Amino acid sequence: MQIIDPSYEIQDDLDRASLVIRLEACGRICYKSEEKIDKDSALPFVKKIAEHGHNSVMEMAVVTLGVKCSGVQFDALLALEPKYLFIDCLDDEILVTASIRSFRELYQRAGQTPLVAAMVRFLVSAHPYLFEGVWDGGHGQEVVSTIEVRKLELTAVDALPDEYLARHRFAGVKFIVNRAVTHEIVRHRPCSFLQESQRYCRYSQDKFDNQVTFIKPMFFEEGTVEFGLWQRAMEETEEIYLKLLESSTPQAARTVLPNSCKTEIIVYCNLAEWKHIFSLRTVPAAEPSMREVMIPLAAEMKERYPAVF
Ligand SMILES: Cc1cc2nc3c(=O)[nH]c(=O)nc-3n(C[C@H](O)[C@H](O)[C@H](O)COP(=O)(O)OP(=O)(O)OC[C@H]3O[C@@H](n4cnc5c(N)ncnc54)[C@H](O)[C@@H]3O)c2cc1C
Repeated sequence: MQIIDPSYEIQDDLDRASLVIRLEACGRICYKSEEKIDKDSALPFVKKIAEHGHNSVMEMAVVTLGVKCSGVQFDALLALEPKYLFIDCLDDEILVTASIRSFRELYQRAGQTPLVAAMVRFLVSAHPYLFEGVWDGGHGQEVVSTIEVRKLELTAVDALPDEYLARHRFAGVKFIVNRAVTHEIVRHRPCSFLQESQRYCRYSQDKFDNQVTFIKPMFFEEGTVEFGLWQRAMEETEEIYLKLLESSTPQAARTVLPNSCKTEIIVYCNLAEWKHIFSLRTVPAAEPSMREVMIPLAAEMKERYPAVF
């Protein structure tokens, strides 16, 4: 067995990657199949994911659009009560930020609404593969010339006034933590999550060095009786888990895995939600293993976005 410290990483590189590369990089965390990433792998991976309905992968990339339209067209969009879209009115245009999943499902639900059709038509022109099986050419409607759509690059989103920055700038963080921490993190409902699956990962495989990895508990000092007891429990658990795998599936064997098991999870949400998470997860009442990663992460986010945090 392996014992490691918890850690986190703000996924800046993926912010600058294309949508499909971002989706693949996040989606593969579930299967821990990152070794399969090459220059041609992203498109087939994302298409398969969309076909199989593994929809949360499609939440892992957002797009911010600047839209000019009439008041009637805008009211028609608001009347749909779009749940997962962030919408703000600036002086001369409307800002709309949403994930690929949100745009796909909004089009399926209300593609006949001119503003919805115009936004999705714009996205399809650049990323047709992300709307396969969904885009039908605009429900046979003509292009509405009074609606103008443009994409805001990340630098433009970063330059938005503070209140819009908090709502429209999304940030992804990959955590390597224990299963108790992931269980708490996923309670934050506005976020999108993808996490290492104990159903698909078989820790007896070579790529896992044929062993289970555990997160070092911050509660017990190495060398103490308590740490020794914890270590013994993990060793025995690993032995039983590996034995079960000789005749059972990973989903059956995982029933013996404990909270200390290492899990990778990507959390993706806007800065406003990160601020809310930090307000709950860095304070003394929060769980200490959660604070262990959230306190330094909050400090890093504050350095990047001092106006928001
Ligand atoms: C110290 C601590 C102890 C805890 N103990 C327990 C426990 O013993 N048992 C337990 O089950 N949970 C526990 N929790 C989890 C806690 O109850 C929340 O589920 C979790 O912290 C998510 O936070 P949230 O609900 O404020 O906001 P999020 O889910 O992060 O949502 C952000 C905001 O969106 C809004 N929102 C989202 N969904 C809804 C909705 N459906 N209705 C209305 N508004 C919504 C709210 O304004 C909310 O503030 C604990 C959390 C903490 C920090």
